Amino acid sequence: MCGSGTPCLGNSRKLLVTGQVQGVGFRPFVYRLAIDLGLTGWVRNTAGRVEILIQGESDRLRDFVSRLIAQAPPLAMPHLSGASDVTHEKLGKFVIADSDSMGERNVRVPPDYFACEQCQLEMRDPRDRRYRYPFINCTQCGPRYTIIDRLPYDRPNTSMSDFPLCPQCEMEYTDPLNRRFHAEPVACPVCGPSLRFKHGQTEVNEGETALAQTISILRSGGTVAVRGIGGYHLMCDAANETAVTRLRERKHRPHKPLAVMLPQRGADDCDAVRWIAAPSDSELALLRDPRRPIVLCRVRPHNGLATSIAPGLQELGLFLPYSPLHHLILDAFGGPLVATSGNISGEPVLTDADHVEQRLGAVADRFLHHNRPIRRPADDSVYRVIADHGRPLRIGRGVAPLELQLSTDLPEPILAVGAHMKNTIALGWRDRAVISPHIGELDSPRSLAVFAQVIEDLQRLYGIRAEHVVCDAHPNYASSKWARSQSLPVTEVYHHHAHASAVFGEFNLQQDVLVFTWDGTGYGEDGSIWGGEGFLGRPGSWRRVTSFRPFRLPGGDKAGQEPWRSAVALCWEMGRDTTYSPDGIELAFQAWQRDINCAASTAVGRLFDAAASLLGLCQYASFEGQGPMMLEAVANKRGLQAPPLPFFVNEAGVLCADWGALLTVLSDEKADVAERAARFHAVLAQTLCTLATRIREQSAVTVIGLSGGVFQNRRLTETVNRLLQAEGFTVLIPTHIPCNDAGISYGQIIDFAYR
Ligand SMILES: [Zn+2]
Ligand SMILES: [Zn+2]
Repeated sequence: MCGSGTPCLGNSRKLLVTGQVQGVGFRPFVYRLAIDLGLTGWVRNTAGRVEILIQGESDRLRDFVSRLIAQAPPLAMPHLSGASDVTHEKLGKFVIADSDSMGERNVRVPPDYFACEQCQLEMRDPRDRRYRYPFINCTQCGPRYTIIDRLPYDRPNTSMSDFPLCPQCEMEYTDPLNRRFHAEPVACPVCGPSLRFKHGQTEVNEGETALAQTISILRSGGTVAVRGIGGYHLMCDAANETAVTRLRERKHRPHKPLAVMLPQRGADDCDAVRWIAAPSDSELALLRDPRRPIVLCRVRPHNGLATSIAPGLQELGLFLPYSPLHHLILDAFGGPLVATSGNISGEPVLTDADHVEQRLGAVADRFLHHNRPIRRPADDSVYRVIADHGRPLRIGRGVAPLELQLSTDLPEPILAVGAHMKNTIALGWRDRAVISPHIGELDSPRSLAVFAQVIEDLQRLYGIRAEHVVCDAHPNYASSKWARSQSLPVTEVYHHHAHASAVFGEFNLQQDVLVFTWDGTGYGEDGSIWGGEGFLGRPGSWRRVTSFRPFRLPGGDKAGQEPWRSAVALCWEMGRDTTYSPDGIELAFQAWQRDINCAASTAVGRLFDAAASLLGLCQYASFEGQGPMMLEAVANKRGLQAPPLPFFVNEAGVLCADWGALLTVLSDEKADVAERAARFHAVLAQTLCTLATRIREQSAVTVIGLSGGVFQNRRLTETVNRLLQAEGFTVLIPTHIPCNDAGISYGQIIDFAYR
């Protein structure tokens, strides 16, 4: 009131901001901006959005709106989705109003962020009250997804609700000008979480002693299970051969490469990375990205690491510390540490102290726990730079839940349950698709329990209920069985259709495309095992136009773990002698002759397995993709010219490549193993390119998508990319969605959306 009895109206505007605006310090930023411009009004969180009422001179209001988007905090991704002039009584100041949990759910669940630079500086400053505090965080950093119970994202709705703020933290938390204003996980040594070091029945509860004991165990070659953001890591000295070998033996993980965490050193934080690897600029940028993923980098010879870290491979998964606790450990240790997921092979990472002691009691010598509860697992994300861009191989902590906008509105909320290996799930509603972090192989009860928990959690967090389930058409996938056991309508999508649709969706295409979906296995429309297919068209109406000559795999599913089976399958099909004769080969041959348990396959992944076996690199794989990875690692010579495989058109009119000539390449004794491996890649790349040009002659398609686990192979994908571009094609290689089976859940949503 202005004193005359009538309300005094200011020049008022109401703004609605959507996008990544919660859990990223957006409201305090709005507050500071308003104060700076001398404006009055309020800002508040509603479910998933930020509402602003702003009053003042119109010039300044305009200024406010443009700076609101342009100068937003680094982690915020605001989108101005509404602005209108309103009539409102004049307000005397600018305030941050209470959150409103009602209203339409437009919620975004923020992922977990790495410790920001300012927090790192404070943590290393002896005068700071959070000096060496392992749980320091602010509005720009710290855990999010892994500690949220429900939305809106406020402290009482997180696993920090058990830690009442001390007066000093309370002051920071409630002061709009403080950078910890509403930093929900804010904590200090007085009021926040603490470390606990455990050795048998002995416990150390004092933080510095717990850290010192951890370091001394690591130095002496022991393994410590360390609780981080999205779960536990198993850590040991990466330069100590005995330590690494022992960890491998205990974890029953003989060959799968182990990720290595390096101390942050030098002007760009990556000096330690350069001790052992020769990262490209793109790889360096990715290592330092706020998502702090594991990045596959080519290692230097004589890098000082234990050779058993990645036997037979020339690339290693490297990453920088991302939580304050990791920084403290790496700073003190001063060298590279193995930091592999604390889990039973193939399962999601373990998050709970009691579980980890029970299940990893025989693997870890000691445990470094903390008491900030982890509500759900988030494994580290993994990227590989291919054709100059980081491509996700696994989405997890820092990346997921990953949201992509759909180009059409879904008729109803749907749940896509993904594939069997590298499982993720996805939710789709309205024009939104959200993909969960990596869950893992759905073989064990724990994997299935986490699978069900994530399905429940994501629906609850986003406030939606699926009314329809989409699953893989495979009759025996655990995810598909789960889908069929729900009392909801189910739509099945073929595995490779989902792969093709994932590319189509990620690039928001409007025209027909030819997608090559090359991988190791997937149930096809004709009941055979697909994996070498090319699909033309668009989601919901894919037409299989290219494939490979089928071969029968003795032992069916066992072929994935035993590359020699793929090799003998090709040899027998061609009437050639086999070069490797393991126990049981006679039985396998008899079964193959009688066509017992010998599924027909067109999978290129199996051709890679066969090549790895025929070149003597890998007969039994202890992890998925071991043979193909070793084949890529051994290949030399780039830029080889190679003829494509011969083609034929099968009875269904599909253009098929005949792999027979690959056996000649692989058995060519004039070339060494490295050159034969290189030729194998070159022939397949040229084959893909020639298939594409043949299809273009019939269909005029100009856009080629690549999807499926085979395209994790950098040599193949980069060669294919180069050849296709030289032919005038536009080439689409996924950068948001993993090209492997982790992308299936998203592809299922896209395929469904276009039906
Ligand atoms: Zn921070
Ligand atoms: Zn405190």
